[in-house]
Amino acid sequence: MNEALKSLRDYQQILHRVAELERLMSFVPEDVRSLETEWQSMEARMAELKTRQEEQLATQKTQMLALEEATDKSKKFERDLNDVTNSKEYNAVIKEIDAIRKRLSGLNEDISQRMVELEDIETNTAECEQLAAESKSKYDEALAAFRATQSEIQTELNQRISERDQMKAEIPAALMKQFQRIADRRNGIGLALCVKSVCSACNVHIRQNVVEKIRHNNKVIQCDSCQRILYFEEEVLTT
Ligand SMILES: [Zn+2]
Repeated sequence: MNEALKSLRDYQQILHRVAELERLMSFVPEDVRSLETEWQSMEARMAELKTRQEEQLATQKTQMLALEEATDKSKKFERDLNDVTNSKEYNAVIKEIDAIRKRLSGLNEDISQRMVELEDIETNTAECEQLAAESKSKYDEALAAFRATQSEIQTELNQRISERDQMKAEIPAALMKQFQRIADRRNGIGLALCVKSVCSACNVHIRQNVVEKIRHNNKVIQCDSCQRILYFEEEVLTT
């Protein structure tokens, strides 16, 4: 068998292995991706809770100021009550006092409602933090395990790439150019095995005199049908 074609055959096999390894390297398994999604959704939930907490705290601050203001007013009206000189004034101050008491009671209710909500947020945040930590550690673990399998792939990939480059140097430039041109148009397969007078790539019958040429000549012969370079192996024919 033509040594250059044999090298080309090995080269083509390496190309396929490199492509396969590159595909594996770019792949992240579904279980790892779903753990990542789970962890990210926990993080998003925490961020949402933090925003709600900030909103509630800001409202609480405003309400506390309003309460302070209303308390001052209430004290003032109580003092005013001592200074009234007639029943008309008395009734007017009593009316103010009633109004401010209603306001104070409403504010106190709002403030305690806020406190209940803030406590609720705190409880949810604590639960979420724990769940986020758990899903993060699950994700980290799965990712580390996956990276470990990838490191084996990466090692093999580096090795295959260097083998590929070394092999490339062994193949005559003209043959390589011809192979590359065909491979580019034919799914990366530029070389096809001739098995029992059939091109193994396109399954088209090869005439016996051509088979003999492939077998004995050192010339490069292409398949009439798919144009791939044909090569022949004795051991394949006997099995
Ligand atoms: Zn063919």
